[in-house]
Amino acid sequence: MASHPDSSLAEPIPLPRRQDLRADLVWRCADCGYQRQSPERPERCPACSAGTERLEGKTSIEWRLLMRRRPAV
Ligand SMILES: [Zn+2]
Repeated sequence: MASHPDSSLAEPIPLPRRQDLRADLVWRCADCGYQRQSPERPERCPACSAGTERLEGKTSIEWRLLMRRRPAV
């Protein structure tokens, strides 16, 4: 069990100023690719109704870094 005082996020964000970053969270559905910016984890994907565990939350900065590493197809 994680012992973070703030357990509302499943994934730890290894960056400072977490409060600011939370407002910049973008959730991406692993099933259909739907993206939504929200400080809270959505209960499910509004596009394909996938469960919340299918939604991956990262800040827009982290997504940008990921996209830069992976060549766009
Ligand atoms: Zn979806």
